[in-house]
Amino acid sequence: MSYKNDLYQRVILDHNRNPRNYRSLSEATDSCDGKNPLCGDELTIFLELDGEVIRDISFTGSGCAISKASASLMTGYVKGKTVDEFKASFDKFQKMVKGETDGNPAELGKLSVLAGVREYSSRVKCATLAWHTASCAIEKNKATTTE
Ligand code: ZN
Repeated sequence: MSYKNDLYQRVILDHNRNPRNYRSLSEATDSCDGKNPLCGDELTIFLELDGEVIRDISFTGSGCAISKASASLMTGYVKGKTVDEFKASFDKFQKMVKGETDGNPAELGKLSVLAGVREYSSRVKCATLAWHTASCAIEKNKATTTE
């Protein structure tokens, strides 16, 4: 395994063990429960929207290391961004983990540690669950599934 993959693995394990923004939000304006039945991942995303700006975002739940690390990284990444910026990032992230883009889009920053899931198609849903669930909360829906 290359040094780069090893580094990526460490970042994922760190976010799995010490997930950032892992809490419910008492100020949440929206929330959604997301499920990935294929793997058993279950996340709830809490959102505090201020007009078009994601003022705060957090998550709770349980799942595999990829799903938790992805939720931890996603919440850190999109906090303070607008809904349009979120949608653009989700699109880029999805293309990255599906291997539809070459390499890692530089603007995704730390999220690029998840690019390796493109080698494991069953893991793509683990990596995108947090994003789908955040979309669901933004769209004022209450539940979503990757199936
Ligand atoms: Zn999973």
